[in-house]
Amino acid sequence: MLSGCRILPGYPATSTTIALWLSDSSGLSDNEHDDCSLAVGFFRVTRQITECLLSGCRILPGYPATGIETVYNKFIRTFLRIVTIVVLKIIEVIVIAYKERIKPEHLRILEILLTRTKISRDDYYYFLNLKKGFEGELVFDAYTKQFKLDHFFLNDLQLEIRRAPFQVDALMIRTNLLILYEIKNFEGIYKWGAEKFTKTTGTELENPSLQLQKTKVRLELLLQEKGYSLKVDAYVIFVNPEFTLLGTPNDSNFILPSQIPGHFRNIQAAPELNAEQIKLAETLMNLHDSSYPRKKTQYTYSDLKKGITCPECGTLAEKFSGYSQVCTKCGNKMNVNKAIRSSIEDFHTLFPEIKLTSRRMMDWCGCGNDMRVYRVLKKNYRMIGKNRGRYYI
Ligand SMILES: [Zn+2]
Repeated sequence: MLSGCRILPGYPATSTTIALWLSDSSGLSDNEHDDCSLAVGFFRVTRQITECLLSGCRILPGYPATGIETVYNKFIRTFLRIVTIVVLKIIEVIVIAYKERIKPEHLRILEILLTRTKISRDDYYYFLNLKKGFEGELVFDAYTKQFKLDHFFLNDLQLEIRRAPFQVDALMIRTNLLILYEIKNFEGIYKWGAEKFTKTTGTELENPSLQLQKTKVRLELLLQEKGYSLKVDAYVIFVNPEFTLLGTPNDSNFILPSQIPGHFRNIQAAPELNAEQIKLAETLMNLHDSSYPRKKTQYTYSDLKKGITCPECGTLAEKFSGYSQVCTKCGNKMNVNKAIRSSIEDFHTLFPEIKLTSRRMMDWCGCGNDMRVYRVLKKNYRMIGKNRGRYYI
């Protein structure tokens, strides 16, 4: 025994969780015992290759597995796939070393809660705020793409210097210069003030220059601490075309909607990032803290309505049947399997610590054919455990 290769953690063997070694003796059966461990009873070689991407051990020539030719074909196919992935990853790092913007998790949570429960007034305003901010950031991203500058940007960074956290909406990496952008999606006519902007209706907002200045100083300190002596330029960029600011001083660091195209047009940039810029981008990306605590919203499973949501408009359907059904709100013909899958994802977003079991998901998806929910789970997720303890990841 022990002449084969070691079974790695997570290896898809069905016999026992305590099997440690895969013997290359001819008898791969449950009946094989020795002093060290059990041998694997049923060795699904093809599953290892196709689904686990060589996370197990290499199949040696003459290994007593069934369908050895197929195994080798699959091995070669998988090997080529891995080579392609590695090459693409290298190209990706060289060509686009930027951090893409993703929808803030809290915004997603509030979106899901809105379809399934009544949220407080405070949470609703917070949701509107987050939504508007995110929409503004997407408008900004559209500009950087339009001017083919997007690969120089790091977006939505959460950083910290000497325990003082700060958030960077967008950071452009240029040779010997960084440009920091604070993105604002304000709407309406405002009058400029050193500390506050005042809307014609009387509403007041903090002058975003104050926040920008703080962020700029913290970023400069962080860069110094990491050994970079780079100049940082900082701007507040107002992306909403329906925003007007009266009385803006000439020396302000504001970019108003009508000035955005000119601003980006004037930026002369090389077609690609150089090695030093990539190194700096990687340093900042490594410092990004994705788990930074955000304001929490309270909710419990039992308070939420069960059902599947329309992928088009987000309306909840508490009942489902067949392969597709018409959404009662938008009239869209929704694919039930897809809606079940996205509802399972929603559950995972709301309750990441709760295991995805078929019983729980059947309840979460509302009234319908439970077998359909089971099949969606089986097809799209990995099954862990047996019988009552089974769950999906
Ligand atoms: Zn709909």
